[in-house]
Amino acid sequence: MGFPGRRISRWIGPGALAGTGLFLTGSVEAVRNRTAVAKAVREWFEANGLPLFFRNNRSPYVIWILEVMGQQTQLSRAVAYLERWLHRFPDVSSLASTEEQEVLKLWEGLGYYSRARNIHKAAQQIVRDYNAIFPDTYSSILKLPGVGEYTAAAVASMVFGEAVPAVDANVRRIFARLLLWQEDTGSSTFTLLVREHMEKMFSIENPGLLNEGMMELGERICLRRKPDCARCPVGAFCLAFQKGEVERIPVRKQREAKIDRSYAVYRLFDTEGRVLLSAPKKRGIWPGLWSLPGILVEEEPSAAALEEWFGVSFGIDINVELLLPPVRHSYTRYRLLFYPVSGRTTETGAGGGSLVAVEQGKMGRLPFPSGILKVLRELAVSSSSAAVD
Ligand code: SF4
Repeated sequence: MGFPGRRISRWIGPGALAGTGLFLTGSVEAVRNRTAVAKAVREWFEANGLPLFFRNNRSPYVIWILEVMGQQTQLSRAVAYLERWLHRFPDVSSLASTEEQEVLKLWEGLGYYSRARNIHKAAQQIVRDYNAIFPDTYSSILKLPGVGEYTAAAVASMVFGEAVPAVDANVRRIFARLLLWQEDTGSSTFTLLVREHMEKMFSIENPGLLNEGMMELGERICLRRKPDCARCPVGAFCLAFQKGEVERIPVRKQREAKIDRSYAVYRLFDTEGRVLLSAPKKRGIWPGLWSLPGILVEEEPSAAALEEWFGVSFGIDINVELLLPPVRHSYTRYRLLFYPVSGRTTETGAGGGSLVAVEQGKMGRLPFPSGILKVLRELAVSSSSAAVD
């Protein structure tokens, strides 16, 4: 069965792939190598695959959530998040019927919250359009909000046995090394090429097992840094390994320059002990998430300056009681420096502007971005008697 997505529209190589005859030709040797690689990956996975709880009872809902979480973090951390998630949302219906804020709260710490919002929308669509039964083909799964080719292929192959290649960064890296591919592994041409190879391997091995085996091989053996080639089941076929080029492949593309920004981030109590927060917005950098009020600064601020700037920006008089060393946080292209500030307002309430006063005990139920959580944690563990400059 062919891959239902886009096809390579032109012949790639042999010039572009000089020296990578491992799979590319129709020769007896190429077919033999492809067969051997597919078999080696499947056998390695069957003997060494991690004994994860969901592997004996495959549910499209579970694999879907895991695969989206796995795009955010390492497998072990994704599994921990998945267990917590399933405890609260055991099925599509329970997820669909909850408030978005609760979904975001459970996603807290994984980043890219748009993925959590799309999961929620997709669950509602499955309940509405499919009577709460998960769609069972690649093309129908691909139509769900936020579901891309990789996730749809992972669910369709691992749960329903459909022969579609699931090509993530791990799988691209393995192929780059097997084939000694020098180009950018993030290019669409490269992904299409990997799919072609995977499709041919599906005629040899079970698609779901092969997809999962390749993913786990990339997660545990063919690591980005310091791959464990001595234990690799496909080392005998790997051109990068044989030519001593493992550290160089995949070739890193030029990264975009990082943008540095510094913010003073305020945790302020009003006269009734409530905390002033920025309520979630529909758009902007953190849609749907709560935040602490922040002000862009150019250098390490003094307490007096922080009080003055807050008054000018939010129209509320405050007294700063604690100013901590900066907390570093990276977000997409931004390298952020947050100066955690704690203090009190001189009046009750949030001043009628853009802030809201929230009971401290309710904050644990609200979703915050990871960087703001870091600031809150720093402030929580710091002594309230720390001196202010
Ligand atoms: S031999 Fe090394 S570089 Fe090649 S696929 Fe295996 S782990 Fe990756």
